[in-house]
Amino acid sequence: DGEPLRCIGCGAMIQTTDKTAPGYTPQSALDKGIETNEVYCQRCFRLRNYNEITPVGLTDDDFLNLLTQIQDANALIVYVVDIFDFNGSVIPGLHRFVGDNPVLLVGNKEDLLPSSLKRSKLQDWLRQRANEAGLRPIDVTLLSAKTNQSVDSLLAKIDKYRGNRDVYVVGVTNVGKSTLINQIIRQNTGVRDLITTSRFPGTTLDKIELPLDDDHVLVDTPGIIQNAQMAHFLTGKDLKIVTPQKPIKPKVYQLNDQQTLFLGGVARFDYDKGPKSGFTAYFENNLYIHRTKLANADDFRQRQLGQLLTPPQPENVADFPALVAHTFKTTAKSDLVFEGLGWITVPAGVNVTGWAPEGVGVLLRRAMI
Ligand code: GDP
Repeated sequence: DGEPLRCIGCGAMIQTTDKTAPGYTPQSALDKGIETNEVYCQRCFRLRNYNEITPVGLTDDDFLNLLTQIQDANALIVYVVDIFDFNGSVIPGLHRFVGDNPVLLVGNKEDLLPSSLKRSKLQDWLRQRANEAGLRPIDVTLLSAKTNQSVDSLLAKIDKYRGNRDVYVVGVTNVGKSTLINQIIRQNTGVRDLITTSRFPGTTLDKIELPLDDDHVLVDTPGIIQNAQMAHFLTGKDLKIVTPQKPIKPKVYQLNDQQTLFLGGVARFDYDKGPKSGFTAYFENNLYIHRTKLANADDFRQRQLGQLLTPPQPENVADFPALVAHTFKTTAKSDLVFEGLGWITVPAGVNVTGWAPEGVGVLLRRAMI
């Protein structure tokens, strides 16, 4: 008594309140565990019983500690990003922590991009974005953890590059890291007795280790929680509406300047100045896009938010934050990115404004397509 209860699998402090935090255990499981003197957190329980890991997120301080551990390791770093949300996938400062360790960049959720998009071009594009973030990956792999597309070629590359090293899989939450690890577990026979436990000193979570052929391990690390994600402003149903599940069908709009596109009620695009041009929108196929005159836009949103313009649903309108404007002038063909939502490809030499809730990034990048 008085001693905090710890998971016997990973050592995390047991708690029953936050499902996404380390050490979460449903109360009923905890009661049973205390009876039998075997308390596992839900993550370790699933791992032991179903060979399945569940995602866990860390806050900034713990994540920094984790990165420091990686810095001191001799490891191949497998860095998983969401190609649909590259900017939201960036781990701040990762380049400083990888040290001399090689980085294998994995672009996940390939299944969401139109098949017409050349994969080699996309790979180059990803590599350039990584370079801008200060990383020089030794290789770039595109895959879909969900559909199991190219996971085998990732495993082959891991084998090729790891040499005599452990493998650390890193990524922010929501990029699909857990889905990927679960595919890897499924592809490896004899992983029943895998698992857990050396602690990352100073962090609230332990690493999950999958044994590789030799005496080395593949380490799953917790993701960092990105607080400004669109996901935090939307409830379950609304989040489903904006999160693509199938390949995105681009939609082209011929716009005159002084026209506006509403992206449901969650974001907005203004074409401020330039000649009549084509703009290509990449969003969840069912997200309602509404075109209107810029001069009427404020008024229109006021009247239609939660009605024609959903998400948000009518009952969530009151809690939905005001949109903040970000204005740009393009010098080349660019994507105006609404982080976590999608993007609009914009021609060179025009003035545009993107609107999103405060904290949700709106930025201009080199056009992907
Ligand atoms: P983690 O937080 O990085 O461990 O992410 P999860 O594995 O929990 O995945 C986050 C979300 O992305 C879930 O809704 C997954 O279904 C989805 N997801 C993961 N991998 C893919 C993928 O390859 N394609 C698509 N379309 N969705 C994916």
